[in-house]
Amino acid sequence: MNEKIDLYSMNDVELSEFFTSIGEAKFRGKQIFPRLQAGDGVEDLTNLSKPLREKLAAMTLDTLPKVELKLISKIDGTVKYLFKLHDGSVIESVLMRYKHGNTLCISSQVGCLMGCKFCASTIGGKVRDLLPSELVGQIIAASRDTGERVSNIVMMGIGEPLDNFDNVIKFLRLVNHPDGLNIGYRHISLSTCGIVPKIYELAEIDLPITLSISLHATTDEKRCAIMPINKKWNIESLLTACADYYEKTQRRISFEYTLISGKNDTVEDARELARLLKRAFNKISAPIHVNLIRVNEVAETGFREGSEESVKRFSDTLNAMGVVATVRRRLGRDVNAACGQLRRNVEAR
Ligand code: SAH
Repeated sequence: MNEKIDLYSMNDVELSEFFTSIGEAKFRGKQIFPRLQAGDGVEDLTNLSKPLREKLAAMTLDTLPKVELKLISKIDGTVKYLFKLHDGSVIESVLMRYKHGNTLCISSQVGCLMGCKFCASTIGGKVRDLLPSELVGQIIAASRDTGERVSNIVMMGIGEPLDNFDNVIKFLRLVNHPDGLNIGYRHISLSTCGIVPKIYELAEIDLPITLSISLHATTDEKRCAIMPINKKWNIESLLTACADYYEKTQRRISFEYTLISGKNDTVEDARELARLLKRAFNKISAPIHVNLIRVNEVAETGFREGSEESVKRFSDTLNAMGVVATVRRRLGRDVNAACGQLRRNVEAR
């Protein structure tokens, strides 16, 4: 056996087929699926005979992420994990504790190909895509580590989820499985820099997750300067895809807008943003929401955050023009919580 099997990426049906293919009883699939998704290792599957466990252990790859480093914020209890993967790659996840439950921000790739100028995750390029097991594994590992349930997932860590489309879709179905972690689609947000054809594909699949768009600028000129993806798919094509997404799924679209001092944070930028979104969404009565993020200063990028007053002015301008906007709370400032920074710091050492 040279290709090892990735049991944690399989659903109950695939596990059943796998057991049948190695001459074992089909019902084993349904039997062990919940145990695997709860994070048990092959050696923990005591409802299987010892010889079968040994056979499985020899055939399978342990793709569950392992806690390599864990930082707990003294300010708000946010936990930043650095996970090590089976090939030695490292990724980050962040556990945020809210009144309504725990949210885990997960990574979708090792590194990122998208090249956004303000982002630490993309500095070393993309190493590889994460497997479905490594996506769900971040949730499994964080809940096992804390002993707490994760009730919400945001795909806003390292990587571009829509650049790892098939594995991400598999992951979404796995994590939503009633015999697995059973996390509702409505409790999952997927954030993209705007890979337009994949937004249409996602709409076709029609899972009721929240789509979140990293917009960050209101003109193609400004957006191209900070997000190379805009050279391929411009703002108009992106907003048209979002409108289609809403019409197919009826799910509110959320926009992320990172405020960068002197680049995109004037009152005129706020007015332009409101006009742009109203033009695209009012005619179809689609509810939208803007999340304002203060840029996290990454040493390599040189981008700076603006004053508290400039953030408030921006937010007030949007709200006054009828666009719902909130300024994102900052969690885990003392634990390198912004995406990609911890991995970079560790890899640089
Ligand atoms: N690739 C996806 C998801 C990962 S990043 C995407 O682009 O949406 C999650 C969010 O953090 C995105 O909106 C991204 O643009 C933003 N982000 C990246 N680096 C940042 C930084 N230094 N400060 C503030 N926001 C940042």
